[in-house]
Amino acid sequence: MFLSVGKNYQSDQNMSENNTLKNYCNECDKDTSHIVLEQHSWYSDPEDYDHSQYHKLVKCLGCDNVSLRIEDHDLFFTVQNNDGEWIPDITIKNYPKKLQNHKKIDHDYLIPQLVRNIYKEVLLTLQEDAKILSSLGLRACIESVCNHLEITGGNLATRINKLSTAGYISKKDAERLHAIRFMGNDSAHEIKAPKGGSLKIALEIVEHLLKSVFILPEQANGYLDTIVDKYELFETLLEKHLTNFNNGDEYPLYHFFEKDWRRVQDFISNFQTELIENINNSNFKLLEIGKKDVNQKGDEIQHFIIKRYEVTE
Ligand SMILES: [Zn+2]
Repeated sequence: MFLSVGKNYQSDQNMSENNTLKNYCNECDKDTSHIVLEQHSWYSDPEDYDHSQYHKLVKCLGCDNVSLRIEDHDLFFTVQNNDGEWIPDITIKNYPKKLQNHKKIDHDYLIPQLVRNIYKEVLLTLQEDAKILSSLGLRACIESVCNHLEITGGNLATRINKLSTAGYISKKDAERLHAIRFMGNDSAHEIKAPKGGSLKIALEIVEHLLKSVFILPEQANGYLDTIVDKYELFETLLEKHLTNFNNGDEYPLYHFFEKDWRRVQDFISNFQTELIENINNSNFKLLEIGKKDVNQKGDEIQHFIIKRYEVTE
């Protein structure tokens, strides 16, 4: 029976009388007070190993974020607290999962899609504590940056050095990237898991690389968060976004621009008219005119088809 460890023991010794507990909040990115909205309890058969499980739907009292907290209580291993109560060993998992105490890169949409996909997968492996795959993934991130920049070389060591000599990163940065390369080598060849702390540092180094190569130059160029009011700038920005799509993709303009849509939408009607003219007179060759859909409000939504970026193997 679940109460066998002590008559005062509750499903969570931290839960106060008003049904609140401390829990990690993904939005606040720290432990905050949460209220338990619903709870489902399960207890093992008294004849079996003595443990219990609690599914709690909890809401952060700071930001109202709702998450699922699952507590596993091992009633076989208990320790006595200062009040003489026997407290079981509790394992807590929160869903959706998130890499705790990690701040996502701002403006990550500026990172090219392929590189961004690998980076996002690395975050997934880190939050699952899959150390070997995280280490391989961090190395793959560096490889993908080199590929994107068309930095060639017989091996990754050469390519990292070229990143530095080409001026994308500093010499110190290159030294740090070599450390990640070694870590990736150990994981790949010796199937050796790196220590958790070193992975955290490696992630910071890779994020620094992504920021230096893809985000800071954009900020410096004034491309960030400014309203685009000139057609030439609109076209430059459009060309940049089109590299994230494949040949034959057909979408309305807002889909190509992703988050940068907010920067162009004030003048979009004029921009689109001029773009269509330029496509028709072959001054803009990356797109062709696509279909027209009608949205719920009855507005016509012009689509465009990518025609320049051919898929290469
Ligand atoms: Zn919160």
